[in-house]
Amino acid sequence: MEVKKKDIRALSKEELRDFFVTNGDKAFRGNQVYEWLWTKSAHSFDDMTSLSKDTRQMLDQNFVINHIKVDTMQRSKDGTVKNAVRLHDGLVVESVLIPTKTRTTACVSSQVGCSLDCRFCATSRLKRMRNLNPDEIYDQVAAINKESLLYHNRKLSNIVFMGMGEPLMNYNNVIKSIEKITSPEGLGMSPKRITVSTSGVPKIIKKMADDDVKFNLAVSLHSAIDAVRTSIMPFNATFPLKDLKESLEYWYEKTQRMITYEYVVWGGINDKKEDINALIQFCKYVPCKVNLIEYNPIDDGEFQQASPEAINNYISNLEMHDIVVNVRRSRGKDIDAACGQLANKS
Ligand code: SAH
Repeated sequence: MEVKKKDIRALSKEELRDFFVTNGDKAFRGNQVYEWLWTKSAHSFDDMTSLSKDTRQMLDQNFVINHIKVDTMQRSKDGTVKNAVRLHDGLVVESVLIPTKTRTTACVSSQVGCSLDCRFCATSRLKRMRNLNPDEIYDQVAAINKESLLYHNRKLSNIVFMGMGEPLMNYNNVIKSIEKITSPEGLGMSPKRITVSTSGVPKIIKKMADDDVKFNLAVSLHSAIDAVRTSIMPFNATFPLKDLKESLEYWYEKTQRMITYEYVVWGGINDKKEDINALIQFCKYVPCKVNLIEYNPIDDGEFQQASPEAINNYISNLEMHDIVVNVRRSRGKDIDAACGQLANKS
């Protein structure tokens, strides 16, 4: 019977060093291999040309390198690029490169499908199949970094965990991927340029604060009234706003870093004065800013972007209360790459 080989990239540098010592070689060999795997992004042991042939063969007998493969790449007329990424077990996730004049942002997935059930999001229609491994998240970022260099002649500047999945339901692997992304042996990016977006899992938000993470936190709020929020994000029944509020206060107390609230205004759902007032109240709990996101229709017309008047109403009322508010235009709509549209259609 063939023994299932282990994915070598699941090993830490320390474990790789130990592996070589156990096999009668020098610990230093582990550093070399680690560099090939992460800094040089080797896809096969044969690529590791500074190792002897015997060492490469020995690695090949013991391990595999489960690299992702970019199956298809679509380019939007606004420059946005969407990758359909095939994983070693055949499943597919999507990631997006979003260029602006000054930055290039990678939007990456953290799960195949999603654990949550937001009714306005195309990803929620897919079953959650599994969590992504740290290296599968890292590879998405590395692939987009390459595309950024190729098409825009500059490195990736920002990363948002706003692709498929709920990052806080795959917390350990997300943290490990960020460690790789920020380490000098990985992409050496500053955690200040990374934003993790969550629908709000209070227990994990508190854990993040305890872990003293250095990246930014965004919360997909969409309503500050429990009944409304539960009707569009049913998991809010399990994690109600009072628990969310408490976890955000804890986060701010520990980290002193402001929160970004993502918010879509829909006609007939959250476009009334009482919705605005509730948001203003919620914004008083911790220092924050609000990003009003354009709605990207996902099919059946159940949700409609609110009227421009309703949106202007939000903006003027928030500003009247000194709350910073930005309006975020959608990117990559023509290739189904915008927020909430990732659903492996291609
Ligand atoms: N699960 C995480 C990250 C993925 S969603 C989270 O909930 O934050 C990324 C963002 O897109 C979230 O703010 C989400 O609420 C928003 N979104 C989902 N569907 C959308 C749609 N159809 N149009 C606009 N934004 C949408």
